[in-house]
Amino acid sequence: MKLVFATNNLNKLKEVQEMLLNSIEVLSLKDINCFNDVEETETTLEGNAKLKADYITQKFGYPCFADDTGLEVESLDNKPGVYSARYAGEPSNSENNMQKLLAELANKENRNAQFRTAVCLNLNGKQYLFEGVCKGEILKEKQGRKGFGYDPIFKPVGFSESFANMKSEEKNKISHRGIAIQKLIDFLLNLKTN
Ligand code: IMP
Repeated sequence: MKLVFATNNLNKLKEVQEMLLNSIEVLSLKDINCFNDVEETETTLEGNAKLKADYITQKFGYPCFADDTGLEVESLDNKPGVYSARYAGEPSNSENNMQKLLAELANKENRNAQFRTAVCLNLNGKQYLFEGVCKGEILKEKQGRKGFGYDPIFKPVGFSESFANMKSEEKNKISHRGIAIQKLIDFLLNLKTN
């Protein structure tokens, strides 16, 4: 089965291709000659994931999945949430986003946070939603160089290191996107055997 992953983020594409191995062939937007960025104009993660998946399915006719992720910080009323990419303004800049979040939390005791991913799959005229959550806390300073986005300041529960100090296989097993994509894979493999 060939499925398009509607993302221009090469880190995400690599993470997902590693998880799918040979079970399903994942095509990138580049592979289908789509060079557009779909603007994330909805107010929920689910809404944005649907928007991106629908754009590809309607315009290019491929079965497709798309994701949207937000970092929800408890003491900030779950902000930045759906606005995580543009937290420090546009254009999106991870370093600025992390610095803004560290500043906002400077005087807060409660540093609990979670990453949440919504994945929308369009397949054979139907739409399916999957969710993945990874709970953790925001560190007081950056730690590690791997990964992307907020990885250097996010430490998952049960681990002593930030996401940016983990190997990608290790992060995939417990991450928000890893969990949501695993649900998607289980669903697709189940379809294949039925
Ligand atoms: P989006 O889902 O690509 O729109 O991501 C929203 C924001 O969350 C962006 O600022 C990303 O850099 C960040 N983000 C998404 N996934 C992760 C992750 O696994 N680790 C750290 N930051 C992430």
